[in-house]
Amino acid sequence: MAPSADNDAHTSQWSLTPVLSPEEEQELKEYTSGNINPPLCLYFAAPIIDKKQISRLTQILSLQYPLPDCMKHLKRVRAQQTRLEMLLRPASLEEKMTFSKDSGADCTENAGICRSENIRKDDDTSQVPSLTDIFKDGAIDLSGLGDPFVVSVPMRSARNRKEQQVWAGIWPSTYHEKPKTVNLEEASHGGVSDEEKLRIGAHMRRAIEAAQLNQARGGKGIGAVVVDQESGKVLAVGTDRSGEKRELLLHACMVVIDMVARQQGGGAYECLAGLENEQQPKMHSVTKDDEKQIGDEKENRKRTKESSEHCTGELPYLCTGYEVYVTHEPCIMCSMALLHSRVSCVYYGCCSPGGALGTFYRLHCHPGLNHKFLVFRGVMENECKALDVGQEV
Ligand SMILES: [Zn+2]
Repeated sequence: MAPSADNDAHTSQWSLTPVLSPEEEQELKEYTSGNINPPLCLYFAAPIIDKKQISRLTQILSLQYPLPDCMKHLKRVRAQQTRLEMLLRPASLEEKMTFSKDSGADCTENAGICRSENIRKDDDTSQVPSLTDIFKDGAIDLSGLGDPFVVSVPMRSARNRKEQQVWAGIWPSTYHEKPKTVNLEEASHGGVSDEEKLRIGAHMRRAIEAAQLNQARGGKGIGAVVVDQESGKVLAVGTDRSGEKRELLLHACMVVIDMVARQQGGGAYECLAGLENEQQPKMHSVTKDDEKQIGDEKENRKRTKESSEHCTGELPYLCTGYEVYVTHEPCIMCSMALLHSRVSCVYYGCCSPGGALGTFYRLHCHPGLNHKFLVFRGVMENECKALDVGQEV
């Protein structure tokens, strides 16, 4: 849909907020503020005074004192200005108590960089046990190592490049970029581009208009739209039908998912047959082009399904690659339906008291899910809030 001047007015009045897990929220907060606080733990380390021993020492330590899985990001050896240093083993709980005065390293300097003076000084060897005490079992030939010291190291791998910069200033570590729920850089600068905001707003406006139409004929003011992310085609526009024909489960999301299913030769609710046209607001009534578009879409899905079946023997899920725009935060039932139909992204306008995508629950953040989808709230929030949803959503 081509953005109109009316859309332009709407873009400045709302902001898109990603709905994240508490951990992701904290990461984004630290990323945006630059105030990154690495969780630190204490390790024994020692300077390498005979470089010929590096290989032997690394091998034997890796065998007898391997880094725990959660610390595998740490490199065993680091180069300082005048010498090389080697991580030996983590300090035990008892040993940590001895150094407790230094263990609460404060890393709140500007730009999030942990100043070395805030971390226990490497040359502070007070109360540090000797190498023979550190390796009491005596199974290690310690030749080549100097006097040990205690050092604070990051106790988990960095989650993003900014963290990695901070980590590198403490102890060298490896970094593997993992796929992110949201683009941290984009989110830290206020979200998506104006062009993307216009696109999102245009689809939400369609959901709002459908909701208003439903409201005008006595239904709940809740609307939803399904869009093919890749082609931008609108596949279904629906509204809450739960007040009709005793179909209490026909919330807006259930309606549009069923409409998509119907286009693919399925659909569970007979009462929704032919609703595709009825749900369209007058200003967006289905034209011949739209009908052709829906027809083409059916064909495309059929073809995709056929080719997918041919290649892998598996069918794509109902809403694979589809976005859902809904005026109000979906309930648990709708959120489960969105999850099971494998939507790629859900945009909603305003929060609902029993909402399962941010308010009452963050279903899409559940760690056990085998499908992840993005959720954003706040799209044309005021317009969505102004709709009449009756007693409950
Ligand atoms: Zn619902």
